Amino acid sequence: MTYERPNIRDMAGYTWGEQPAQKQVIKLNTNENPYPATASVANALQSLRVDELRRYPQPFADGFRDVAAAAHGVTRDNIMATNGGDELLRLAITTFVDAGQTLGMAEPSYSLYPVLAAVQGCQVARVSLNDDWSLPQDFAAQLNAVDARLAFVVNPHAPTGQLLPVSRLREIATEFNGVLVIDEAYVDFIEPSQGYDAVPLIREFDNVMLLRTMSKGYSLAGLRFAYGIGASSLLAPMLYKTRDSYNTDALSQHLATAALAARDEAAVNWQQVRDERSRLSAALAAMGFSVVPSESNFLLVTVPDSAAAAGLDSQEKLARTLYQGLKQDGILVRYFDQPRLRDKLRITVGTGQENTQLLQSLQASLKQALQAIQGA
Ligand SMILES: *Cc1c(COP(=O)(O)O)cnc(C)c1O
Repeated sequence: MTYERPNIRDMAGYTWGEQPAQKQVIKLNTNENPYPATASVANALQSLRVDELRRYPQPFADGFRDVAAAAHGVTRDNIMATNGGDELLRLAITTFVDAGQTLGMAEPSYSLYPVLAAVQGCQVARVSLNDDWSLPQDFAAQLNAVDARLAFVVNPHAPTGQLLPVSRLREIATEFNGVLVIDEAYVDFIEPSQGYDAVPLIREFDNVMLLRTMSKGYSLAGLRFAYGIGASSLLAPMLYKTRDSYNTDALSQHLATAALAARDEAAVNWQQVRDERSRLSAALAAMGFSVVPSESNFLLVTVPDSAAAAGLDSQEKLARTLYQGLKQDGILVRYFDQPRLRDKLRITVGTGQENTQLLQSLQASLKQALQAIQGA
């Protein structure tokens, strides 16, 4: 006997990146920030008294919303706090897409989107990215053609790290007939000289929502706190109707507020990540990997073609071999067993020391793999 709804019975759940119990592992597989949260967050944690947990939290996280509104130059009504970005994605689907209706996304992108769509029982229209991973010019037109009610665009893109300019997002927002969610989970790692800021779009369009999370830039993935930025008319149904009554808890409101208020401290980490990103890209390129230019805290790299020339039956096998070799050395990266990604590894930028160990292990595995082929 099964009691599930048919769409739940038929769906597969989300596949998490490995979260090993051992602490010694070098974890470069789930895009966490390699540096600890800032001193302000540590102080906020220390100053919290357990008695403050006796009462229910402020239902709308208004303290946090005011800090976020000031940070982005918008008003409190333009901010909505959620239990991680994943909750905001789920709320967007349950609020804007009926069962049987369609939501759109680029393929590949964040693998949670189709899972949340399956829970809601809605259809997913997947628009393939171009060979250079850019978003097709007719992205919005393709989604309008299938009457998509909602579209997810990750920017910087995951899993490539590529950044779309705000002008391109504006074109999509203008053309698309549904709600456009711009998932900015990795926005903090963008080179400041790019001058990227998509917040003005929420004043120009009542169908645009930005997703921000404390998980990546603020080193708080374990806290589960994120927020949406959008027109008040767009956020209102989620704020007042579809979310859980107390969707963010008192502890996370307290810490997330401290973290965002002290974002200048976190910005020091972001610069370190960018510096290491450059160093890692250059070193991987020198080893023969091809690296997609990334504005994120991870790199998508294709294994060297020299391997194919040396007789490896496929690049894909080499990618798996390297993934396993790293794992044996206690270094986790992400391997996606899906079209267009099987000859690639996605590597989170770690601390300087972690990246150096990664490069050493990769160098050794690569040499061994090539020798094995030549000997065979
Ligand atoms: C990490 C991530 C999120 C949100 O993560 P939370 O930890 O739930 O806040 C959303 N989108 C993408 C693409 C991500 O990588």
